Amino acid sequence: MQIHEFQEMMKQLYFTRDSARGVDGTFKWLVDEIVELGEELKGSDREATEKEFADVIAWTASLANITGINLEKAALSKYNHKCPKCQQSPCDCKF
Ligand SMILES: [Zn+2]
Repeated sequence: MQIHEFQEMMKQLYFTRDSARGVDGTFKWLVDEIVELGEELKGSDREATEKEFADVIAWTASLANITGINLEKAALSKYNHKCPKCQQSPCDCKF
């Protein structure tokens, strides 16, 4: 499954509910899921961590759907096999 296919699946599942909730409410859900992922990363429950990663990508896709953003196009236009800052692969940026 490609990114656009996942986004389309999320649209079929949740677009009506996500649209009614709106951008702000959906963004808050995404933030909550990121916080939950952060909590799981502190532990050792791999299955729970996987589920939180799934929630983060699902809510990211939902937010993209209600804002009309094509995630696959956005991601690949910015991260197309090289770092968008240094243009290298692997990244050679100095942090
Ligand atoms: Zn770089």
